[in-house]
This record gives sequence, C-alpha cells and structure tokens, in this order.
Amino acid sequence: MEYEGCFRLSQRQKYDCLLFDLDDTLYPYSSGIAAACGKNIKDYMVEKLGIEKSKLQELGNLLYKHYGTTMAGLRAIGYDFDYDHYHSFVHGRLPYENLKPDPVLRSLLLSLPLRKIIFTNADKVHALKVLSRLGLEDCFEGIICFETLNPTHKNNISDDEDDIASTRPEIFDIIGHFAQPNPNLVELPKTPIVCKPSEDAIERALKIANISPQRTLFFEDSVRNIQAGKRVGLHTVLVGTSLRVKGADYALESIHNIKEAIPELWESDMKSEVGYPGKVAVETSVTA
Ligand SMILES: [Mg+2]
Repeated sequence: MEYEGCFRLSQRQKYDCLLFDLDDTLYPYSSGIAAACGKNIKDYMVEKLGIEKSKLQELGNLLYKHYGTTMAGLRAIGYDFDYDHYHSFVHGRLPYENLKPDPVLRSLLLSLPLRKIIFTNADKVHALKVLSRLGLEDCFEGIICFETLNPTHKNNISDDEDDIASTRPEIFDIIGHFAQPNPNLVELPKTPIVCKPSEDAIERALKIANISPQRTLFFEDSVRNIQAGKRVGLHTVLVGTSLRVKGADYALESIHNIKEAIPELWESDMKSEVGYPGKVAVETSVTA
C-alpha cells in the first residue's frame, strides 16, 4: 500500500489456466451435434432400457434437471448399463462431419501464454473426435472427461453408492415422485456418476489438474455449470450468448470473441513488469 510502484512491479497475470468445456463451447450450438445427441439419448432409453416413449420427454427433463446429465439420472433411479456402450450409442452416430477445422480458434488458443485444459462430461472418444474435427487436438495440455471422474464402476468395488445403485431391484419412479404434493419430503436417490454441474465434480477436476480456481478462467455454454463454477471460486465466461447472467464474469457470443472481450489474457508477466511506472507512481502514492 505504501508504494504503488512496488505493487505494480509484483503484479502478474491474473490467470494461470484456462479451463474449457467442449460441446457447444468450442463450436456453436447450431452445428446440430447437441440436437442429434438428444435424439440418440432418447433412442437409447427406448431401445436399450425399455422406457415408454410417452414418458421420454418428462423423464428426460427431470433427470437432466436433478442429476446434471440424463445418464447420471438414469443410473440414480436404478438403471444399470455399461458406460462405454451408452457413450458409443449416443455419440457413435453423431454428425461429426458438421464440425470443420477452425483455424481462427486454433491460432487464438496457440497464441495464449497460459495453461489450457478441456473439462467435459463427455467420454474420451467423443472429446478426441471433436477436437480432431476442429483441428484443435494439440492446443490443450490435457482433457478431463467422463472417464477421468468415473473410473469404470466394475473395477471400483469400494464405491458404496455404486454398489447400492447397481443392486437396486426396482426403478425409482421420479415422475410419480414429483407428482406428489410434497416431493421434497422424500430424498431423491443419489447417482454414482460424477459430472458437472456438481460442485464435487468441479472440485475433483481442479484437484486432478492441479488448478487453482482463483487463478483460472472457466469457459462454458451451460448457465448452471457456470454458476457451479462460480461457487467453487472459478472466474467464469459464458459462451454462446452476449447476455451476461448471474455467476458469469464475461459473456461471449462466440469463443472467437475471446480476444476482444478479454485482451489481458495475452499480457504476459514480462509485460506487466515492463509497464512498471517507476518513480512517478511511487512519489504520488507515498502521500496517500
Ligand atoms: Mg457444453
């Protein structure tokens, strides 16, 4: 406080790390990937789990709302299935050809002098396919994906919640549950799946990648993931809209707008020191 000049000298980049969601964040929602994925999930529920078509919409909405992903919700209410099989079914037939190389984003990412990590609820095969299609496979230090936070449950016998879910003989009627007058009196079954927007999932991801939330900027298209990220201390950038919501520090219509919106990301530590104002600033602040 005494010498403003000293403060400025020690000032460094505000961020060490950029944490990016993948789907609908690094490419636009209009690609059609999300819509196709939603349809494939519904097909899986009917074809593989025997769920009635008439219940799909309401069930899907409730599971997504209360468990973060439909998959996490399906496991919570008692369906057991192979995670790899689920992912290959819902992602295997996606129109990946709609995703084209993005040299603009690639050069923006490569020019950023910060750690860059992907954090997605999707599986590794999907994440690699998307990054490869976008021509961004070498732009990130690592990928935190479904498998990172959910090692195959069959190899993880110490996971109590998992054991309960996989041996539950009946399916919990979540539609009936919310049709009751006081649904909050009964607790919903827990899911064994760890995924955004759970704060626990975000905290685990930060720990795995050795990330300090206070020094990290989190890019996401999902408002609830942004808000969960904010609760664990991340700085946040909502992508896909220019309307900033509660919990978002920035809002970008497209990830391509990153340089106009947050130019300070390109300022390195060296640059801050060059900007040291020296004697004048010291003299003016001494009297404060
Ligand atoms: Mg997303």
